[in-house]
Amino acid sequence: MGMDLLRRLPAVHRLLDHPVCRELIEQYSHRFVSRMAGEVIGDLRTAIVAGAGCEADLQPEVLAGQVAQRVQAQFQPHYRPVINATGVVLHTNLGRAPLPDVAVRAIDRTARGYTNLELNLATGERGSRYDHVERLICELTGAEAALVVNNNAAAVLLVLSEMAKGKSVVISRGQLVEIGGSFRVSEVMRASGAHLVEVGTTNKTHGYDYERAIDDETGLILKVHTSNFRVVGFTHQPELADLVALAHARNVPVYEDLGSGSLIDLRSYGIGDEPTVGESVRAGVDIVSFSGDKLLGAAQAGIIVGKQEYVKRLKKNQLTRALRVDKFTLAALEATLMLYRDEDIAKRDVPTIWMLLRTPTTMNTDAQRLHQGLADVFGERADVRLEAGLSQVGGGSLPTEELPTWHVTVKSRHFSLNELEHQLRHVDMPVMTTLQKEALHFDVRTIFPREIETVVTSVGQAVQRLG
Ligand SMILES: *Cc1c(COP(=O)(O)O)cnc(C)c1O
Repeated sequence: MGMDLLRRLPAVHRLLDHPVCRELIEQYSHRFVSRMAGEVIGDLRTAIVAGAGCEADLQPEVLAGQVAQRVQAQFQPHYRPVINATGVVLHTNLGRAPLPDVAVRAIDRTARGYTNLELNLATGERGSRYDHVERLICELTGAEAALVVNNNAAAVLLVLSEMAKGKSVVISRGQLVEIGGSFRVSEVMRASGAHLVEVGTTNKTHGYDYERAIDDETGLILKVHTSNFRVVGFTHQPELADLVALAHARNVPVYEDLGSGSLIDLRSYGIGDEPTVGESVRAGVDIVSFSGDKLLGAAQAGIIVGKQEYVKRLKKNQLTRALRVDKFTLAALEATLMLYRDEDIAKRDVPTIWMLLRTPTTMNTDAQRLHQGLADVFGERADVRLEAGLSQVGGGSLPTEELPTWHVTVKSRHFSLNELEHQLRHVDMPVMTTLQKEALHFDVRTIFPREIETVVTSVGQAVQRLG
């Protein structure tokens, strides 16, 4: 029996004659498809020798189908889109800010060919890659000068290294934070060659604490936004303008790491207590840095704004070359920043801002569609409900803020919710959900309206895989 099956194994060139394989050869290459066909036949031979092969495995359709699967698997990217049903708007593990359409188009437009990245079109001479966005950033923040680097962590490293290498940096004990990915202010300070001088206490730091710490060795006063936690109760930090005044009186510049750095005052929409970049600039802070892909909602970048004399020095620092941004980032950043020229445009076209400002009322239609779609998929197998819930901002922004939202919740006695959550990560378009108490939650806030049908399809696939 086994011998008979082995004799009937097709030769590779025979299998490649199958129409399915011929089509694959058109799309990929002859050499690649024959290698995959050789593997399929080889595996079957091994199976037959082990006594596991059978008549049906030899069918040309079956073999050609396996070749197709193997070929396609080799070209299935490991890095791919997922749907965010967690409600966390700036989810670092899910790539933080989804880009505005205009930014996606700008990347596409500039990526396919050559650009004027470092060319001054007016003069035909060499230009700077930073010129394209500098004026726009200054216009939107009121700063004198700007520079963009790889991310805000890089911005912190660069500023400390240029301004305070071999000098001391005064910082409040309440601001020695750790951001995700083990980025610690104290460690970055060490890496930059600056010495840390801690003042005040965890909960209270006064102006006189800073004043007493300033001496001839002081290179900088650093203020770090406590992005991902809040100290509440008996607390004090000096007003930004007062801190600037006392530092300038001693000729020491002030650097503020804003973390998120919003260009829109979200407080006016009842969200959080995040200061805007413009406020820090107006308070007289000498250098301010913030992320491109947090509340700004653009590409990963570290944006540095401030006084001309300091930004000029930063531009000349050797590290800037190592930390520089690429052409795609600049394209996405410029396109996104332009949307902030008018707040109504930003609210509509920057997905991060649009999502943050969604309310249960504006999400109502989407919530009903998702609820109905999932109720149909599960039928009798689960209890699917639409419930009021709360979403988080995430990405180390607005840590205590909870935004009212709609959750579609799924409970079941027929299958394990852990298993459903697992299967939802293994379907064609993975859906990231949260398991809370006794139900699996789909938060409507971070699901784009165009994705609702896809969520329903993905859940359908996951349910089938539950068996
Ligand atoms: C997020 C954050 C950083 C790091 O910014 P990335 O753009 O993620 O590198 C640095 N400082 C603060 C205060 C932050 O919130």
